[in-house]
Order: sequence, then structure tokens, then C-alpha cells
Amino acid sequence: MEQSKIWLSSPHMGGTEQKFVNEAFDANWIAPLGPNVTGFEIDIENYLSNSKHEETPVHVAALSSGTAALHLALILLDVKPNDEVICQSMTFAASANPIMYLGATPVFVDSEKDTLNLCPIQLEKAIEDRISKGKKPKAIIAVHLYGMPYKVDDIQQVADKFGIPIIEDSAEALGSSYKGRKCGTFGEIGVLSFNGNKIITTSGGGALIVNKKAVKQKAIFLATQARDDAPHYQHTEIGYNYRLSNISAGIGRGQMEVLDKHVNLRREMNLFYQDVFSNIEGVTVYSEPNDDYFCNNWLTIISVDENITGKNREEFRLYMEALNIECRPLWKPMHLQPVFKNMPFYGNGLAEELFESGLCLPSGSNLANQDRERLRTGINEFFGA
Ligand SMILES: *Cc1c(COP(=O)(O)O)cnc(C)c1O
Repeated sequence: MEQSKIWLSSPHMGGTEQKFVNEAFDANWIAPLGPNVTGFEIDIENYLSNSKHEETPVHVAALSSGTAALHLALILLDVKPNDEVICQSMTFAASANPIMYLGATPVFVDSEKDTLNLCPIQLEKAIEDRISKGKKPKAIIAVHLYGMPYKVDDIQQVADKFGIPIIEDSAEALGSSYKGRKCGTFGEIGVLSFNGNKIITTSGGGALIVNKKAVKQKAIFLATQARDDAPHYQHTEIGYNYRLSNISAGIGRGQMEVLDKHVNLRREMNLFYQDVFSNIEGVTVYSEPNDDYFCNNWLTIISVDENITGKNREEFRLYMEALNIECRPLWKPMHLQPVFKNMPFYGNGLAEELFESGLCLPSGSNLANQDRERLRTGINEFFGA
């Protein structure tokens, strides 16, 4: 008899989501905007402001997706056709695609080995080279991949040196922090995603995080078709239909109530894997490099050293798949994607290496003890531990 599927990461409702959705139905507020949207924004603002460090104002605009938020972030930073925008190569395509929407050019940069995110040394090299070729990049898209904060201080230092704003792609990192301050609040503009497989979900949605109320208002203006203040439909700018719906936001309000609980459960999954692999030589389980980092462990990832284990990552993935357990290779770096093959890249091969050896393991906050036992047995059997 086939056992039920263990997913990489699946939606996990806390219980009150439906109450907020029902309220929207009762008020017949089945539309973009509405009380749940405002409520959800306030919930996120309160959550992100709750940092140990100095109080930076946090303003949040709820949008239809993380991709939409990245698109608006680039527009707000005045990215135009033929501009260049630096982007971490090791990421999901949604980090880079909005650069193309604007007719700008992505310049991809490699990762470093501690957080697997943007490498400050390669970043500096890339910027200097682009400037020497006559173009200073307009923005830097840095990603907290799999919830692990990038080297916030080092990256910020490079960005400040050249006066280039950072777009902080925190789509996978709601609930993570660096030196006690929440991810999403470091960049000139931060981005969140509430897609189905993320740490919390609204079935689909995203948010833009800024530190000025006027910028939030501008983002909402653009996200609601850029309507001028007039009784008729009047437009002096190109607008978008990017606002979150009141129904989706209702799900988000319920999800915010269980966010920290779900982060803790995912962190426990990371500890579980550290334990399982502790006696398997040649497999690295990624976790925080030091106490400055707090990772939501959206997904736990490993890398398999074939020279030591005698087995490769793909054999392991297929073995788990046969047990009805979903594992997935890491994001394929953007500079290796056919669609971006002609774009500039600065690096020394780390992202490629990680793509070959790395694997994401089931990490959901809703996994049960019997799921963990299946995972442990499968891993031990495959690696002969
Ligand atoms: C999911 C994701 C996005 C896009 O978010 P959507 O809400 O799916 O549009 C962007 N960047 C990263 C790193 C992501 O993981």
C-alpha cells in the first residue's frame, strides 16, 4: 500500500483564517482593498517593527504577489529601459524577471559559502566592472534564500560605498532576523511573498515594505491603476492591477497569528535533520553560521559530497521520490538559465557547485512524528547508516 505523500512545504492553516474570510463574505466585501487588507498590513507592520534595534518606521503595502512587489520596487527606484540591476544568481526566477519587464538588464552575481546568498566580494567586483564599462547599476536585489539572512552588514557596506539602493527579496524570509532585526526591513525596499508554499500563505499574495508613508502611498497608487484624484477616470501615469484581495488578506490575518509558532516548527525540522545526518559523513545540513543570524528555516537544505558518500544528490532524490517523499534540487542559478544566458555574470563557481550537490528536504510546519520516522528511515537506508 502506498504511503501518503510527504511534501516539501505545504500550506498550514492555523484555524482562524476562515473567520476572517467569513467576515468578508458577511460584509459582501469580495474585492481588492477592504478591512482585511488594512488589518493584514497593520499585522505585518507590527510584526516587523518588533525589533530589538532602533525603531525604523515600517510601512507595508499588501499586493497580489511577491513578483508584483519586486516589479513595483524597481519602478519606485526609477529603473528604466537599458538600466542595469544587480541580482543574486542563486534564486528563484521571480527575483530577476521583473528586471526584464522593465527592459533593463540583470547582472548576476555569485553566492558565498556561509549563507549561500550574495557574495560581497563578487558584488563589489561586479559593480566596479560595470562602472568601468560606463554604467552604474541602478539597484541591487539581494535575497534571503531559504529564509537564511544574507550578510546584511557586508552587503550594505558595499551598496553604501557606491550609493546603490538595495531591494531586499525577503519572499522566503518572513520570521527571520539578523542581529535581532526582522528581515524585510533592511533594504531601501523589502519584498514578501505569501504564495502557497511560503512560510505563510494567502493562497497567493505579496507585500512591499518601505520606511516612508509617502512611498507606500505611491506603491498603492501604482498598484490600483494609477488613478488621479478626479471624479472620472483620469491617468497621468501607467498603472497596474496589483492590489491584494480582501478575501486573500483574510487568510493572511489568520496566518499571522500562527507565524511564530510555524517558524519554530520549521526550526525543529532543521534540528531534526541535523540529528539524522550527524552520523552520516559527507552530508552538510545548512544552518545559521553564528548567533547574528536567526533563520525561519523555510526549507532545510543539504549538500551531498559524492567523493565522501559515494552517492550523489540525484540518486538520493530519486530514492526518496520512490518512497513518495518530495525533495527538490536547489534553485538553478539564473546565469545558467537558457532565458538569461546572454546576461553578465560575476562569480567563481559556487552557485553551480551548490546546484549540483544541494537538495531541499521536506520542511513543513505540519509534518508529524510518523512523517519524521519515514524521513529518518529513508535517509538512513539510502546512506547505509
Ligand atoms: C516566491 C518567491 C518570489 C515571488 O513571489 P510570488 O509571490 O510567488 O510572486 C520572489 N523571490 C523569491 C526568492 C521567492 O522565493
